[in-house]
Amino acid sequence: MKTILTGDRPTGRLHLGHYFGSVENRVKLQNDYDTYILIADVQALTDNFNNPEKVRKSVYNLALDYLGCGIDPKQSHIYIQSLIPEVAELTVYFSNLVTVPRLYRNPTTKHELLQKKEVFGESGEGITYGFLGYPVSQAADIACVNSNLVPVGEDQLPHIEQTREILRKFNNIYGETFNIPEPVLSTSPRIKGLDGNEKMSKSLNNCIYLSDDADTITKKVMTAVTDPDKIRKDDPANPDKCMVYYYHKLIRNKDVDTVCEECKKGERGCVYCKKELARAIIEFLKPIQERRKYYEDRPEEVEKILKEGTLATKRKAEEVMKKVRKNMNLDYFE
Ligand code: ATP
Ligand code: MG
Repeated sequence: MKTILTGDRPTGRLHLGHYFGSVENRVKLQNDYDTYILIADVQALTDNFNNPEKVRKSVYNLALDYLGCGIDPKQSHIYIQSLIPEVAELTVYFSNLVTVPRLYRNPTTKHELLQKKEVFGESGEGITYGFLGYPVSQAADIACVNSNLVPVGEDQLPHIEQTREILRKFNNIYGETFNIPEPVLSTSPRIKGLDGNEKMSKSLNNCIYLSDDADTITKKVMTAVTDPDKIRKDDPANPDKCMVYYYHKLIRNKDVDTVCEECKKGERGCVYCKKELARAIIEFLKPIQERRKYYEDRPEEVEKILKEGTLATKRKAEEVMKKVRKNMNLDYFE
């Protein structure tokens, strides 16, 4: 069975963008692959090092979100990055195999650096060693479970390329040790925000979280951007300019064709359409929230799942590191 590694940084709760962008697909993949799901707390600290409480709290929320979405702990190993010290060790060895200019050239790192001005300064002059190097530790995450496949969004492709370069170099110098992982590009496009922004994103404050209650969802949906040319409730409109229609489609509302037709003919007011969408999203999230609540009420069960997932990953990482140390001539007392 081939191995897959995926995961998220624990920096908040998951939203519909995460669900349709990645988590839904992971739930399918876990049936066919040996799946490792990484809660990347060490990586979350690279730009949240002064806010460890937020990271700690988010680890638990992320685990609940995963379980709610149907990540099955019997099939997938959900694990906490900081509890796998082998990742830190491997990061050190890998750091010799990548140049500092190469890390600076990574387009995703550049982009994120400028998004995090409050942490790293106006033009990124306060960049830390840890942040610049996080693609190296990501290579170590992937290598520690010797993953074959890494499902990613487009923004992650430069990191996977960096991982592949590092692992090829390692294999060349120290002998065949690692699989060279293949990225599996997400087939779902980037999910837009209710505000019409290109991306639903925490920092843009335009998210519907998987754990939002019915009132919150309804309030958020009421603010969604609609066709600006539609003034009166019975004006015909263009659904392709409307985020409400976009979301009807996204959550696969079975009445989506009716929504489209009525909107085009001016037979559907936006307020009515939004209320219908809110109800559909609430309905869509219901099974996810029920499962999430089950685990929320059983913290000891969640802890057990995380412990077991972490233990399984640690075993795998130890096995990989044994080979690494041998190939690097570091197996002193073996
Ligand atoms: P932040 O605003 O803190 O950056 P975010 O909401 O953008 O948070 P991230 O934690 O950056 O979420 O997202 C992690 C991964 O989840 C991304 O690499 C991407 O693959 C996926 N993802 C996030 N938002 C979306 C979205 N709107 N559409 C599709 N995929 C998404
Ligand atoms: Mg982001």
